[in-house]
Amino acid sequence: MSANLLLGKPVQGALLEEVTAATRAITDAGHRPPHLTAVLVGGDPASAIYVRTKTTKCREVGFGSEGIILPEETTTEELLAIVRRLNGDDKVDGILVQLPLPKHCDTKTVLDAVDPAKDVDCFHPHNTGLLVQGRPRFAPATPAGIIELLERSDIEISGKHAVIIGRSDIVGKPMAMLLLHRHATVTICHSRTPDLAAVCRGADILVAAVGVPGLVTRDFVGPGAVVIDVGINRVADRAQAAEILGDAADWARFEERGYLVVGDVRPDVAEVAAAVTPVPGGVGPLTIGMLLVNTLAAARGRRDIGNAG
Ligand code: NAD
Repeated sequence: MSANLLLGKPVQGALLEEVTAATRAITDAGHRPPHLTAVLVGGDPASAIYVRTKTTKCREVGFGSEGIILPEETTTEELLAIVRRLNGDDKVDGILVQLPLPKHCDTKTVLDAVDPAKDVDCFHPHNTGLLVQGRPRFAPATPAGIIELLERSDIEISGKHAVIIGRSDIVGKPMAMLLLHRHATVTICHSRTPDLAAVCRGADILVAAVGVPGLVTRDFVGPGAVVIDVGINRVADRAQAAEILGDAADWARFEERGYLVVGDVRPDVAEVAAAVTPVPGGVGPLTIGMLLVNTLAAARGRRDIGNAG
């Protein structure tokens, strides 16, 4: 038996079509399109690619978008001044501060300064509170994208046992809330959970959001489980990549780039599970799709655009 592959691209495509249609309705009614501003501090190449992809996708759906690129030495105060300026700029509907910030920046203070109505990443405590109460203004893009993937793949959530590995504010905790509000029984595991494999084997839906390449092996997965792999890990050690990926390793890509992107879940889990998300190509595209959905929601929430879109 081999599991169904749950691919992110088709769901991202559907989300982008829906957002494009809604944006057209907004502009046809004579309103400005939604606008996202992304702020990047420093030269981390992966972060620069993320920001470029986000602003490009914005333009594809008809949004206004802008990337503000700041030098590595930018101080917390300077960053706060920019966030406050964007808060006060009526043209800007969504503000995204790309993480991680350089070590000398106070990430919490900066994220807390973003106007909750423009907080399309849903990192502000006010939006976290609304999410916990089951009346979200926005939901963090990665877990919300996973819900879209499950629902659009007709995977039942209600009454199922969902096990999440990882308790971060960005993925693990909001994932738990979104599944709980859809009536799953939820277990959250983390670095101090004893006998992790045994807990995970009881899952109907297993979400791995850890950042440890290949942590989830076949003995973590019960027959028929749905396994969602959030992990994005660069493995530059050939022996480690071979040990985790086996025949699934793309050595031509390894030679070209000097590393492979590996999930938290080993590919041979597909021999036990009913459905799995690949890495890359599973959860990643959904995150961007949901960021656009959140930016559209921010524009609707902030502006009097009636029923347009
Ligand atoms: P994080 O480092 O903030 O949190 C990791 C969590 O895993 C922690 O709660 C920790 O307790 C737990 N953990 C660590 N080691 C463990 C172990 N051995 N056993 C059990 N639990 C353990 O990371 P994050 O921001 O939640 O991201 C997790 C992974 O998801 C990373 O690989 C990240 O790159 C990836 N990610 C992907 C997307 C996407 O769009 N696909 C989005 C966000 C994060």
